[in-house]
Amino acid sequence: MAINAVQFQKGLSMTEFMESYGTEAKCYRALYRSRWPKGFRCPKCSQRRRLSFFREGKIYYQCRACQHQTTLTSGTLFQATRLPLRTWFLAIHLLTSTKTNMAALELKRHLGVCYRTAWRLKHKIMQAMTEREATRTLQGFVQIDDAYLGGERNGGKSGRGSENKQALIVAVETDATMEHPRYMVIEPVRAFDNASMSAWAARRLAPEAEVFTDGLGAFRRFADAGHAHTVIEADSPRAATQAPGARWVNVVLSNVKRALDGVYHSLKQAKYARRYLAEAAYRFNRRFRLRDMVPRLLRAIAVCGPHSERALREASNFSY
Ligand SMILES: [Zn+2]
Repeated sequence: MAINAVQFQKGLSMTEFMESYGTEAKCYRALYRSRWPKGFRCPKCSQRRRLSFFREGKIYYQCRACQHQTTLTSGTLFQATRLPLRTWFLAIHLLTSTKTNMAALELKRHLGVCYRTAWRLKHKIMQAMTEREATRTLQGFVQIDDAYLGGERNGGKSGRGSENKQALIVAVETDATMEHPRYMVIEPVRAFDNASMSAWAARRLAPEAEVFTDGLGAFRRFADAGHAHTVIEADSPRAATQAPGARWVNVVLSNVKRALDGVYHSLKQAKYARRYLAEAAYRFNRRFRLRDMVPRLLRAIAVCGPHSERALREASNFSY
């Protein structure tokens, strides 16, 4: 991978960020454009004509057709927030512009909010990222591996299947030379059994995707699902991670684990694994578009429905 192309691309500097999003009015306008790119649309009846008025310091829009009243933030992930929009925008910028994954604790310090508020912000933003990544399918050449969070598998596969660990699947789409990774998917799975792998393949692999894996039995379901399947045989675990069909999946996995190091420190976090992993995937999959991160994530948040703190805390990893 052209690592340097990522590291040396021009991101959005803090000065530029402040110029674009440094006031509440600028953030309001940016969110308005993001939520209603072609102008206002009534969330109830989709009509465009509206009038607006102030109530309790907020701008309300009233549909001229059905009289439905709404605000810019209602019905979105911003709903019921008491934070200024510019705090949200700064959180969005910090969570996407820093090289390493920013923990809620660090976000708290930058934003000057309490820990619980920072946690809620980070998890809401991660939820929007998760929903954006939920429909991604991989095509062409796809390297797939099993992995675990909450413990290293020292020297190869010896850690496979330990019950203290969160099982996860990592998959990387590369170009035809297998020299360059394109997109990744990384998410928890219930287990590496036939049912889970079949369901995963149906959801994440385009029909023509060709897959490369090690010899784990459940991976044979990919061939059953009609995918060309190459099993990478290697004499040693080290050789296996260097094989062309396995190299990127290993590089990506170790980068994700390093990024989560300071964030995902205990098993208490395990129920949020899907969100943490989706955050890593969201950033990886947009690594060549650093300058667009704020508007793109803003759009993701604007189309993501409300999520209460309670719902965020009851997260479950297992949809299949
Ligand atoms: Zn209406």
